[in-house]
Amino acid sequence: MRNFITANEYFLSVFGQKVYKIALDGGMSCPNRSLDKKGGCIFCSSGGSGEFAQQQCDSVPEQISGAIKLVESKKPRKFIAYFQSYTNTYAPLEYLKSIFVPAISDERICALSIATRPDCLEQSVVDFLGGLNEVKPVFVELGLQTASDATAKIINRGYETAVYLDAVKRLKEAGINVITHVIIGLPGEGKSELMDTIKTFNDSGSDGIKLQLLHVLKDTQLNKMYEKGEYVPLEKRQYIDLLMLALRSLRPGTVVHRMTGDPPKRLLVAPLWPADKKRVLNDITSALKEQFGE
Ligand code: SF4
Repeated sequence: MRNFITANEYFLSVFGQKVYKIALDGGMSCPNRSLDKKGGCIFCSSGGSGEFAQQQCDSVPEQISGAIKLVESKKPRKFIAYFQSYTNTYAPLEYLKSIFVPAISDERICALSIATRPDCLEQSVVDFLGGLNEVKPVFVELGLQTASDATAKIINRGYETAVYLDAVKRLKEAGINVITHVIIGLPGEGKSELMDTIKTFNDSGSDGIKLQLLHVLKDTQLNKMYEKGEYVPLEKRQYIDLLMLALRSLRPGTVVHRMTGDPPKRLLVAPLWPADKKRVLNDITSALKEQFGE
């Protein structure tokens, strides 16, 4: 028996029906990509890990309408406004209000999901998001990737793990649902580093987790390491074994929002097996059956 909950099960219990995430662009950049920070995380593409967001030139309501149109055929009724690209709290509070208030006020939107960095969450922003959370649920997604400060230096994450723990604590105090991003297959990491990361996640109080493989994308620092033979990507079997290990080790009741990534095919350099998403999902489903008997 598994002791985690899938995102679909969780959203069904909260909203009473299937919900769709629509990716929006808040028009913000990322403090870790500025030149003095050496250009960002080594795996980050120019799209700031949000290749599927609606391009920002439209207002938030216009972006919502455009994104809903794209999934119209599925006849969805409830949507989560997902601010995915870059760091979506990297702006003055007044600007954040001008983006998030229209989104949460839109009657088609049932919740907000905001991806950001733990070192970009001033208390005034946390308080503001806590206020929005009283209107509709707010999820804040934090890119931890690893609990190892040594690996964090290699990937140029730009903050220490203690900063993540403090951010989760303050978000939880504000009543906000926290989702943590963890990457499997980071340079130099194996089972023991992944277990340390899952333990840190379990102890942090974060509600949910997104697990994904490290992809080598074009025009990234990681691609240069890969070309020089300094980074070897995981095989599919290795990834699925590590994924099952992580899932088995989660705190009971954790919501698992993602078990695999969805790399943009036009940018993917290695490994190439994630491009066949259907087969990857089938293989993960088989492994889940083997592990958890369902
Ligand atoms: S924090 Fe996100 S957007 Fe910023 S450099 Fe890292 S992956 Fe890219």
